Amino acid sequence: MIVLFSRDSLLSYKQNLNKPLAFVPTMGALHDGHLSLVEKAQNDGFEVLVSLFINPKQFNNPEDLLKYPKTIPQDLELLKRIKTHAVFIPDYQTIYQNNQTNEIFLDSEIQHKFEGHFRPGHFNGVISVLYEFFSLIQPLAVYFGQKDLQQCAIAHSLIQKYFSNIEFHRVETKREPNGLAMSSRNARLSFNAKNNAAIIFDHLQLISKQPSADNLNLAAQKINESGIEIEYLDIIDIQTFDSWNGIPSKNQAIIFAGYLEGIRLIDNLIIS
Ligand code: AMP
Repeated sequence: MIVLFSRDSLLSYKQNLNKPLAFVPTMGALHDGHLSLVEKAQNDGFEVLVSLFINPKQFNNPEDLLKYPKTIPQDLELLKRIKTHAVFIPDYQTIYQNNQTNEIFLDSEIQHKFEGHFRPGHFNGVISVLYEFFSLIQPLAVYFGQKDLQQCAIAHSLIQKYFSNIEFHRVETKREPNGLAMSSRNARLSFNAKNNAAIIFDHLQLISKQPSADNLNLAAQKINESGIEIEYLDIIDIQTFDSWNGIPSKNQAIIFAGYLEGIRLIDNLIIS
C-alpha cells in the first residue's frame, strides 16, 4: 500500500495507475462503514485511493474537532488488510495551499437545510475540501456513504457543476448488529448508550412502513423518552431535501439527527 503525504507524491502516483482511479474521502477513525466504500469501489473494478484528513473547516463545534478520534496507525492497518492501493494523508497546508479559498457556489439550496441549518458553516467546509481534493486527484469515480445523505446530495451537485467527468456513487449505510449506524463518533458512547441508540433505526423502519405525520410524532416521542435529544426527524425529498408535504412518493427518505451523551448522531432510511 502506497502512503502519500504531499501534492507532488500524489501527482507522481497518478502517473502509474494500474486501473481507473476511485477516490474515497474520509476523516480517519475508520470502521467497517468506511471499508465498505473501498470494497465497493474495488468490486466495481477501480484502484482505490483513500484520504485521511480531519478537515477543520467542516467542524462548526470546536470541541467536536478537538475530540474527533485520531487513529492513523490502526487506519493504515485496516486499509492494508483490504488491499487498498493508496492512502493520502495531507496536512492542512497541503490541502489549503496559501490559505486560499475558492468561492464555490452550488445551484441548490440543499446546503442550508437540516444539517446546514443546525451546523452553520459545516457544508461550506465540506464543499471547500471536496473541491480541493477533486481538483488535485481528478479521480474517475468517488464513493460516499448514504449515512451522510445530505452530504451525498451536496457532493453530487458539486460534481454535476464543476467535475462532470467524475462518477458519483452512494453506498448503503453499514450498521452495528443492533441497527445503530456505524460512525467514528460511536467510540465515544458508553456501552448502555450504544444499546439504547438502537431505538433510532427501529423507529426509522417503523415510519418507513407507514409514513404519516402521526407516526413521525409517535416516533419522536419514543426516541425522546429514551433520553435522545432530537434535533430533527422528518421525511424529505432526496433530491431537494424539501420537507414532506404529506404525500408519499418515491425518492423520499426519513432523516434523523440527535444527541445522546452529548454525542451527535445522524441516520436516515430511504423509503422504498
Ligand atoms: P467520515 O470519515 O465520517 O467523513 O466518512 C467518510 C465517508 O464514509 C463518508 O462518505 C461517509 O458517509 C462514509 N460513512 C461513514 N459511516 C458510514 C457507514 N456507517 N456506512 C457507510 N458509509 C459510511
